Amino acid sequence: MSAQNKKMKIGKCILNGEKIYIQSMLNARSDDIDGNISQACELEKAGCDILRVAIPNALALELIPAIKSKISIPLVADIHYDYKLALGAVERSIDKIRINPGNIGDKERVKAVAVACNSKNIPIRIGVNGGSSKEGLVESAISHIKLLEEFDFNNIVVSIKSSNIAETVKANREFRAKYDYPLHLGITEAGTERMGLIKNAIGIGSLLLDGIGETIRVSLTADPVKELQAAKDILLSIGKYKGIEIISCPTCGRTRIDVEKIANDLEIAIKNNLKLANVNCKLAVMGCAVNGVGEGKDADIGIAGGDGCAVLFKKGKLLRKIKEEFLVEEILEELSNFVAE
Ligand code: SF4
Repeated sequence: MSAQNKKMKIGKCILNGEKIYIQSMLNARSDDIDGNISQACELEKAGCDILRVAIPNALALELIPAIKSKISIPLVADIHYDYKLALGAVERSIDKIRINPGNIGDKERVKAVAVACNSKNIPIRIGVNGGSSKEGLVESAISHIKLLEEFDFNNIVVSIKSSNIAETVKANREFRAKYDYPLHLGITEAGTERMGLIKNAIGIGSLLLDGIGETIRVSLTADPVKELQAAKDILLSIGKYKGIEIISCPTCGRTRIDVEKIANDLEIAIKNNLKLANVNCKLAVMGCAVNGVGEGKDADIGIAGGDGCAVLFKKGKLLRKIKEEFLVEEILEELSNFVAE
């Protein structure tokens, strides 16, 4: 499978495979400029790397300068069919356009968009979705690419998505074996918060583990902030995002401490502590010594439970025994020391 080697830039984000960029999309009404601005600021604060906005008509073009003046992350215009909207977005210095050249009419229009984007080094994402394509997904992506390449345009990102996970994974693998354009990954129309996260985790996770994909959008029928949290959790669970990974046992008849409460309390405390963000660390919360000592020793910090207490390990070294009621507090203290070290 060929690795992606075309380097490209979306605003300040360089897609070269070293960092997986997280995207989301505004869902405030396109005629509500203030609502879009405030949501854009909220998403930037929540960790969005690249933000997309729907531009359904000429009036919505005014969202571009309004939003761009308030955020420092790149903004992408989502445009369907109307090439004039693409030209309007370029005039307003958009950072990337999502449009399918095969859907915008004759070649003169495709040329106009390609020339305008080339003049400002603005990339185009070709987004092929299962529901909107009559031909095969990969064939459809290739036919859109060829239209742009005809006009010497190759500043291209591709997404090939379907609500069917197996189809999405297969198509992206097939595409990457033939082309090295950067890939934007996701499962389209994935569903509500829980099932959507599961579907995206399987689809996006499988591809990222193959080394495929440079940017992701976890689409959920939920607040876009939840998409960002889900994306971070997917990346964290496969070691592609800095953060504290909690390993905790499922508990069994041997358990004599409340592992569930301890693990949940730690997860919440870690998420709410900015000092613990961007720390690469493995934290093991294990109910007993059976697997606990091994996992505890393997982790940067870990506990193995006893009866109403646990032993604490740090980097494989047994530090001390702690009573259950002080476990969360003392583990958090050890994590802070770990960060300081
Ligand atoms: S670590 Fe111990 S308590 Fe937890 S599931 Fe395994 S055997 Fe049971």
